[in-house]
Amino acid sequence: SVAYLNGHYVDLEQAKVPVLDRGFLFGDGIYEVIPVYAGNPFRLTSHINRLRKSLAAIYMSLPQSDDELKTIIGTLIEKNPYDNASVYLQITRGVYVERHHDFPEQGEATVFAMISPLPPVQKLSQATEIKGYSVITAEDIRWQRCDIKAITLLANCMLKQKALESGADDTILVRNGEASEATSSNLFIVRDGVIITPPLSEHLLAGVTREFILLLANQHGIPYEERPIPEHELELADEIWLTSSTKEIRPVVKVNDVTIGSGQPGSVWRQMYEYYQVLKERLYLG
Ligand code: PLP
Repeated sequence: SVAYLNGHYVDLEQAKVPVLDRGFLFGDGIYEVIPVYAGNPFRLTSHINRLRKSLAAIYMSLPQSDDELKTIIGTLIEKNPYDNASVYLQITRGVYVERHHDFPEQGEATVFAMISPLPPVQKLSQATEIKGYSVITAEDIRWQRCDIKAITLLANCMLKQKALESGADDTILVRNGEASEATSSNLFIVRDGVIITPPLSEHLLAGVTREFILLLANQHGIPYEERPIPEHELELADEIWLTSSTKEIRPVVKVNDVTIGSGQPGSVWRQMYEYYQVLKERLYLG
C-alpha cells in the first residue's frame, strides 16, 4: 500500500527510517489510529486534538497544521483502494546524531502514516453475530502516564499476550484495586441500566470512542456515571464493554471465567451499538 513518510508518498514496504531516530532508540514518539468509513475519517478532529495533547505532554509540537494533517490522511485514503480502513499516524522526535537522554532542541520530527483495511461495516442485522470477549484481569504494569498515546507499548503487548495464553481475548488492567481500561481499549460496565466508565486520569487513555459513547448516552437520555470501578465490581456488572476506534463497542461476556449477565451481549450494548452504526451509516449516505 501507499504510505506517507516525511513529505513523500511511498510504498509502505520500502519506507525506511534511520537507526538514529529517537523513536527507534528511545521509543520517543506518539501515535494515533483513525478509523475511515466509506472514505471518511471518523471523529478526525478529536483524534488530531488528542495527537496535539500527547505531543505537548512530551514537549513536542508539530509544524504541520491541522489542515496539513487532514490532507495527508485524505491523500492516503485516495491513493489506496480501501473503503473502510484505519490510518496509523506516528510522530517521533526525529533523528539526532548523538544518543543521549535529554530532549535535543527540536529539529525535524519524523512523520509517518500508513493505512490498512478494516472489515466491511457490520449490518445492524448482524449484531447478533458479534462475539462477546472473554477477558482476564491483571495488575497494570504500565507507567504512570497512560493518558499519553506513546508508542512504547511493550507492557500493553505483554498484558495482551498474557490473555491469549490463558485462552482469553484481552486483559482488563487493575491499579490500586480499580479497573481502568484494557490493553488497547476503554472500559465500560452497565449496572441497573446505568453506564459506568472510569473518570479520565493519568492511568488511562482518553478514548475518542469513550467520549463519543458518552455523547450518545447524553443525546439519548441513557444515564451514565464517570467513577472508579473497583475490580470486584466487574463480576457484579450486568454488562461489560471494551471500546476503541477499531473495535468499536465490544461486549465482554466472561471475566476470569465468571459469566457476565446472561453470557450474551446485553440489551444496553445492543442499543448503543445501534446508535453507533446509524451514525456511521450516515457517512455512507454522504
Ligand atoms: N486505551 C488504550 C490503552 C488504547 O490503546 C486505546 C486505543 O487504541 C484506547 C483506550 C481507545 O481509544 P480510541 O477510542 O481513541 O481508539
